[in-house]
Amino acid sequence: MKKLILENDLHNTTVEVTAKKIYETDFGTWVAEVDVSDLQHACEVLCPEKECDCGGIRGEAAEDDDGKEYRLVGV
Ligand SMILES: [Zn+2]
Repeated sequence: MKKLILENDLHNTTVEVTAKKIYETDFGTWVAEVDVSDLQHACEVLCPEKECDCGGIRGEAAEDDDGKEYRLVGV
């Protein structure tokens, strides 16, 4: 379990989610697995406008700021 801060630069919003699992892919991308309903809620907070497809969600570690960026995956 790891807390992540998600940011949306376009709307200037942030939200915290708890990743169930994080791992690095063979391509060096960090992936954070988040409960689908948590991710859905996070998306609504980050992008409150309907019919907006900015998709500008960045995930960073909340506690130890290790500088990694995570790709969020709903599980
Ligand atoms: Zn948006």
